[in-house]
Amino acid sequence: YNPLAINAQEVLKVGTEPAFPPFEMQAPDSNELTGFDIDLFRAIGEEVGLEIQFQSMPFDGLIPALQSKTIDAAISGMTITAERAQTVDFSRPYFQSGLAIAINKENKGEISSFEDLENKRIAVAIGTTGAKQAETIAGAKISTFDNSAIALQELSNGNADAVVNDAPVTLYAIKISNLNNVEVVGELLTEEYYGIALPKNSPNLEKVNDGLDRLLQSGRYRELYQKWFAG
Ligand code: GLN
Repeated sequence: YNPLAINAQEVLKVGTEPAFPPFEMQAPDSNELTGFDIDLFRAIGEEVGLEIQFQSMPFDGLIPALQSKTIDAAISGMTITAERAQTVDFSRPYFQSGLAIAINKENKGEISSFEDLENKRIAVAIGTTGAKQAETIAGAKISTFDNSAIALQELSNGNADAVVNDAPVTLYAIKISNLNNVEVVGELLTEEYYGIALPKNSPNLEKVNDGLDRLLQSGRYRELYQKWFAG
């Protein structure tokens, strides 16, 4: 591609599930999307001359939309897994994450590790690695929600005993919202890496990786990380 051809920008349709703060969320004062992933993909676009157009959709609709090429890419705090990599291609990893257990403080003492989740009511977000992890718990009564924000609200409301979800998202929700009765317990259950997903053999994979590399090298990635995760 020609980095000087800034007037003939190609449009990239990028899918995201917009209730996964601080990675993606609706800005409180407008309909605009905001968040770490949103800033990151916009910055990638600036680096490699792609105009980014975000499209909100359910998390479990992202991979089908990539397969049907309804969208050109997806950024959604999506963990790179071997199973997903059978149907889509992933960029280089751009963020290290992992699953955490959140409990309602009323259950304090009763739930402090993964083993303690047996026979408990677990709330998860549909199609996520957290949902997969919860399915391995013996006797668990799993309720599935459209996104982790709703799952955490259910936990806070007393309709679930625990949520299994990405640690940075659960911690951010506790910090910024009024989930005063929710807390994280135990160790992280997994080590996961987020990647940008693209249709198999997408011509844009190289550009996306190139953009990510440049942002990492220039310090721009670090700036965005500080903006969303410092303090
Ligand atoms: N990282 C998790 C996954 O890929 C959750 C992503 C999300 O809920 N947006 O399944």
